[in-house]
Amino acid sequence: MNILVVEDEKKVADFIKRGLEDDDFQVSIAYNGEEGLNLALTGEFSLAILDVMLPKKDGLTVIKELREAGSNLPVLMLTARGTTEDIVSGLEAGADDYLPKPFAFAELLARVKALVRRSEWDHGAEILFADLRLDPVTHKVWRSGNEIELTAKEYGLLEYMVSNPNTELTRAMIAEHCWDNSFDSFTYVIDVYVSYLRKKVDRDYPTKLIHTVRRKGFMLRESLALPGFSDR
Ligand code: CA
Repeated sequence: MNILVVEDEKKVADFIKRGLEDDDFQVSIAYNGEEGLNLALTGEFSLAILDVMLPKKDGLTVIKELREAGSNLPVLMLTARGTTEDIVSGLEAGADDYLPKPFAFAELLARVKALVRRSEWDHGAEILFADLRLDPVTHKVWRSGNEIELTAKEYGLLEYMVSNPNTELTRAMIAEHCWDNSFDSFTYVIDVYVSYLRKKVDRDYPTKLIHTVRRKGFMLRESLALPGFSDR
């Protein structure tokens, strides 16, 4: 499990790193907000511990920009003791928890473990495929961290495809699953909806995910078109 520590005070950063490594976490340190945000956006971390007072970009801005990019990386914010305003703005900006400095390591570890557990549950509820992320509760969709606005029907179709990746989905299967209807009258409707989805999900990305299986139906696949398949 990778944890990102964004903290410009080297002593504090090293203290956190050593402690977490003793507990079998892997830790990377960023010493300013800009570097911290870039690392947080790589998607390689399960949690970020983020100081509020940071050079280049303060912690509150980092959280805000992280959330605006669609990331739901759990963030534990480190604040100076007694700065209620920072705490409130931090939580409003999207921090998941906070810890006033100075703190005992045991306290930090307890917060980290609680956040990791919580995010594991949340994570389990999401549906992931390639760089697509679907939240079946809110019906929100992101590709590479960018939110995609879908209608309810489009969401239903995409969720069905993402739940059955690398599988040939015939128009009959799609009609039955997404429209509760028989195949014949729905062929055209399905094709129209697939073309809507392509516009929103694939058009702006080099790797196409929605592929046509000639004369059969569609397949969600992460690769370039092969003979017999097409991405139009
Ligand atoms: Ca600091």
